[in-house]
Amino acid sequence: MAVIETVQGPIAPEALGFTLIHEHVMCDLVGARETGSHRWVRDQVVATMAPHLHALRERGVTGFIDCSPACLGRDPLILLRLSLLTGLHILTNTGLYKEPYLPQEVFSLSAQVLADRWITEWREGIDGTGIRPGLIKIAVNPGRLLPVQAKIVRAAAMAHQATGLLVVAHTGDSVAARESLDIIEEEGMDPSRYVIVHADQILEPEVHVELAERGVWLEFDAIGTLPIEEHVELVRRMLEWGFEDQLLLSQDAGWFHVGEPDGGAVRPYTTIVDAFIPRLRDAGADDNLIYKLFVQNPRDALAVG
Ligand SMILES: [Zn+2]
Repeated sequence: MAVIETVQGPIAPEALGFTLIHEHVMCDLVGARETGSHRWVRDQVVATMAPHLHALRERGVTGFIDCSPACLGRDPLILLRLSLLTGLHILTNTGLYKEPYLPQEVFSLSAQVLADRWITEWREGIDGTGIRPGLIKIAVNPGRLLPVQAKIVRAAAMAHQATGLLVVAHTGDSVAARESLDIIEEEGMDPSRYVIVHADQILEPEVHVELAERGVWLEFDAIGTLPIEEHVELVRRMLEWGFEDQLLLSQDAGWFHVGEPDGGAVRPYTTIVDAFIPRLRDAGADDNLIYKLFVQNPRDALAVG
């Protein structure tokens, strides 16, 4: 039976509901060398972020994917507390990002060793918490892939083959998107289990078509940082091309900024419900389409097994 793995444990995919697939509760941008849980106070992060998550529950959102990877502010215990407080289904991730968020040892470890570590997190939980990841989050550098990033993509494909977890890859441009997808295909991984994150940063529409035709998910996740109309137009084009089954939408919003007074300026998570969906409806979207984009697609992408 398929499940979706939340920080509170597995749920039936049907229970996930209306979902924001790419957001952040906390980020620590200091780099892999210095980051660690000594840098934040869990009570303070929970108290700061809980009202923002409650605001989602009030709006009928029930699923929330935290995309802060290891060495960039991932703290499953904070996510668990926020999930218990708010009733949101929250997912965390395994995987690794890119420089300067890579521990030095990653440069000399093999893809298989990295994959084995992520598989162990899936089987046993993260850092002794028992909290298991619900997806694999990685990143690629812009342009031609650096060897270490190519290795991380390969490790993600290996970890996917062993776990079934969705792989989501921070991607800045078309060259990186194509090369990472080449590796996914070489490893024999089904591209329909791979997400090109920040696809709205790829400005060539023909590349959206090219990537979607290769079978990946395209994630437009900067909603609220550009004029809303631009995202309405991106969605309209994907529908026109017939790729409604490969489209994921989110805001990349939040977050508690570790190292800034009181967590700095948090960007609210409410733009999609309060501004984007009304505008999408004005442009002709009906309940079925809203359900498809924010319930069915995230559920299909995240379900494992
Ligand atoms: Zn993000």
